[in-house]
Amino acid sequence: MELLFLGTSSGTPTKDRNVSAVALIESQGKSWYLIDCGEGTQHQILHTPLSLNSLSAIFITHVHGDHCYGLPGLLASAGMQGRAKPLTVVAPKAIRDWLISTQACTELYLPFELNFFPSEKLPTLDQGQFMISLTKLSHRVPSYAYSFTERKIRASLDIEKLCVAGIPQGPLWGKLRAGINIIYNGREYSSTEFLHRKQKPRKIVICGDNDSPELLKKACVECDLLVHESTFTDDMAEKAVKVGHSCAKQVASFAEQATVPNLILTHFSPRYQSRADITPSINDIYLEAQSVYRGNLQLASDFKRFELDKTGKLRSHI
Ligand SMILES: [Zn+2]
Ligand SMILES: [Zn+2]
Repeated sequence: MELLFLGTSSGTPTKDRNVSAVALIESQGKSWYLIDCGEGTQHQILHTPLSLNSLSAIFITHVHGDHCYGLPGLLASAGMQGRAKPLTVVAPKAIRDWLISTQACTELYLPFELNFFPSEKLPTLDQGQFMISLTKLSHRVPSYAYSFTERKIRASLDIEKLCVAGIPQGPLWGKLRAGINIIYNGREYSSTEFLHRKQKPRKIVICGDNDSPELLKKACVECDLLVHESTFTDDMAEKAVKVGHSCAKQVASFAEQATVPNLILTHFSPRYQSRADITPSINDIYLEAQSVYRGNLQLASDFKRFELDKTGKLRSHI
């Protein structure tokens, strides 16, 4: 599976970086998922092989404009390009109200159905290759992380063990087979207890804006890759707290403690220049995170692609 970053700036775009959006592309076929849709995302997509017809679902992390202002335009273009199949949208409920009102004001008719799931009420969602679950974050407005866990990998259930545990056949078995932990009779059962696997399901956690990385502790169990904002460096910590954002060292320390093997930082303040010889630069963010994190550390940039292979190794391609 691959990640293709479409926007990596926080708040406002810069000449090199658009505002937040990232595509998660399935390892087989053409299906892909869009996480956040800042203004201009559809223009960024035009510079990639991605097609709005193959877009499987959109996930919005929170209502701030740098994460969603591109949504009505992208949906309108999908319609004009002849999309007919339904599109899943997972987002805070307010986004739905905003879309309905924008459609009414601008007489936007979409020739496809929007299947809307409010983030506030999302337990888990099966979509294509993934089981998606949600974690509440801490920001100035409600913000969420979406965890994508592979579902369709070769695994067989240990029926004998399930019977001994008294877990009844049905949807609970399906969840366990998909690598999802379950709660039955008040007790939590880990899917790994009941599966014979040839390959571990890959798991990617993609976060919205967040000032408290430790909230992701549970989501990061058995996670291969964490994608988290790093709006500032530590010298801006006071401002970061005020605006509900994280600093590089804070996120990297958390990832180190949680033993996350791969970390991609994104959503950089426009104050950080792309060139390493101009201060402050994106390189300062890298150096600060690297000082406390021993895993595979990567910084996102617009149009940078990352491939997470079946063994959980992350490689970057420009
Ligand atoms: Zn933001
Ligand atoms: Zn925000």
